[in-house]
Amino acid sequence: MSYPNIQLLIDGQWCDAADGRSLAVFNPATGKEIGRVARAGKADLERALVAAQKGFETWRDMPAIERSQIMRRAAALMRERADANARLLTQEQGKPLAEARAEALAAADIIEWFADESLRVYGRIVPSRFNLSMRQMVLRDPVGPVAAFTPWNFPINQVVRKLAPALAAGCSMLVKAAEETPASPATLIQAFVDAGVPAGVVGLVYGDPAEISSFLIPHPVIRKITFTGSTPVGKQLAAMAGQHMKRLTMELGGHAPFIVAEDADLALAIKIAGAAKFRNAGQVCISPTRFLVHEGVADEFAQGLAQRAASLKVGDGLSDGTQMGPLANPRRVEAMQKLTEDAVQRGAKLLAGGSRGAGDGNFWQPTILADVPLDSRVLNEEPFGPMAAIRRVKNLDEAIAEANRLSYGLAAYAFTRSLKNADLLTRRVESGMLWINTPAMPSAEMPFGGIKDSGYGSEGGPEAVEAYLNVRSVAVMNA
Ligand code: NAD
Repeated sequence: MSYPNIQLLIDGQWCDAADGRSLAVFNPATGKEIGRVARAGKADLERALVAAQKGFETWRDMPAIERSQIMRRAAALMRERADANARLLTQEQGKPLAEARAEALAAADIIEWFADESLRVYGRIVPSRFNLSMRQMVLRDPVGPVAAFTPWNFPINQVVRKLAPALAAGCSMLVKAAEETPASPATLIQAFVDAGVPAGVVGLVYGDPAEISSFLIPHPVIRKITFTGSTPVGKQLAAMAGQHMKRLTMELGGHAPFIVAEDADLALAIKIAGAAKFRNAGQVCISPTRFLVHEGVADEFAQGLAQRAASLKVGDGLSDGTQMGPLANPRRVEAMQKLTEDAVQRGAKLLAGGSRGAGDGNFWQPTILADVPLDSRVLNEEPFGPMAAIRRVKNLDEAIAEANRLSYGLAAYAFTRSLKNADLLTRRVESGMLWINTPAMPSAEMPFGGIKDSGYGSEGGPEAVEAYLNVRSVAVMNA
C-alpha cells in the first residue's frame, strides 16, 4: 500500500524543510515506518507567515461569492477523493476504513455548509440617537491570519472544523497538523489548492509542536489561535496567547458522563454506549467515559456492554470486518495498561478486555470496568481509549452531582423516558453538548465545544464563523 512522503505547503508550493529535516510516520496497526514528514524550522515558518499575511489580504478582498465557489469546489474534490483519502487516514491513524471514509466525506459537508454561511457575513446600520444624518455602521471583518493546531485522532475533521469557518470569515490559516498523521490533513489542504485557493490563504506545516507554537503564537502576523488537544497543553497555549492578547478558540479534553436512569430504554442505551465507546478506539474527545447507571439496572447494563465489547472484531483498519483498530500511538496503550491496573487494584471488576491482544501494533482490547471506585485514575483523568468505567448511582441527583464533579465540561449523554428527568438533566448537567436518548450527532450547523476546563469557543454553527470575525463600529456624519 503506497504512502507518500509529506511536505510543507508554503505560499502555495509543496516543499521540503529548508534544512532538509524530516520525521518518521508509523502505521499503528503494524508499528512499522511507512513514510516521512518534513519538519519545519524557523526559516520555513517565517516564509509561511509572510505568505499567510499576503494570502489574507488577497482572500479578504475577494468577493464572498467567489470565495464560496472555491470552497464548494474543494468540497466536491473531497467527496470525489474520499476512498483514496480514507486509505491514507487508516494507514497512519488506525481507525477502520469505513470510519475513515465517513470522516473524509463529512469534511465535504462541513466545507459546503460554511461556504454558504460565508455569503451571509453581514454588518448592520444603526440609526443614531443624536442625529439622523449620522450613519452608524457595525462592521464584521475577518480577524486576520490564524494559526491552527490540530491533533491526530480525527486528522481531517479537526482541521476542517477550523479551516472552513475561518475561510468563510475571510481569514487565512496556517495549520500545524499532527506529525503522527500528516497525510490526511495534506489531502484536505490539497483539495483547497486544486480548487483554486490563492497562494498563502492556506498553509500547512509540521515539526516540533512546542517549537512551532511558541514561534507562531507571539508573532505579530498571527491574530488568532485555535487549538484542539489536551487540557494541559491548551492551558499552556492560552497563557501564551494571553500575554500577546490574541483571540482564542480552545477545544480541549473531556470526560463525558453517560447517565442511565432507572426508566431508560436499556437496550437503546447499551447499543448507543457500545457504538460510541469504541468508535475510533475511544480516542474521541466526546467519547462516553463515566457510565453512571441506576443501581436497579446497573448489572444488566454492565453485562450488555461487556458482551458487546467482547464481540468486537479488533484488527488492522484496512482488513475487512474490522470494527475497532489499534490505538494511534504506543503512549495510549501504556495509558490503558496503567489505568486498568490502577482501577483493578482499587477494587474495580474487570468484565471485558484489559489486555493488549496479539500483534505488533498498538492494540488494546475493548475494556469494561464495573463498580469502579471514585478515586480511580480512570474516573478522574481522561482515558482517551477503548475503556468504559461503570458506577452504580442511587438516583438522578447523585448521577448529576458526579457528572459535574470533574473540571471537564465537554459532552454528556443521558437515557431516560421521563420528560421531567430530561428537563432536569438539560438544566443541570454542566457540559457544552448534551445528547439525551440519542448518539452524538455533531454537524456543521450545531455549535461544538466545551465549557469549564474543556475550553471555550465553538467549532460549529454560525458561532464558529463569529470566532474569526472582529466587530467594529464606524460612524459617518454628512459633512
Ligand atoms: P499531548 O497533550 O502531548 O498532545 C495533544 C495534542 O497537542 C497533539 O496533537 C500535540 O501535537 C499537540 N501539542 C502538544 N504540545 C504542544 C505544544 N506545546 N504546542 C502545540 N501543540 C502541542 O497528548 P497526546 O499524547 O498526543 O494525546 C493524548 C491526550 O491529548 C489525550 O489524553 C487527550 O486528552 C488529548 N487529545 C484531545 C483531543 C481532542 O479531540 N480534544 C485530540 C487528541 C488528543
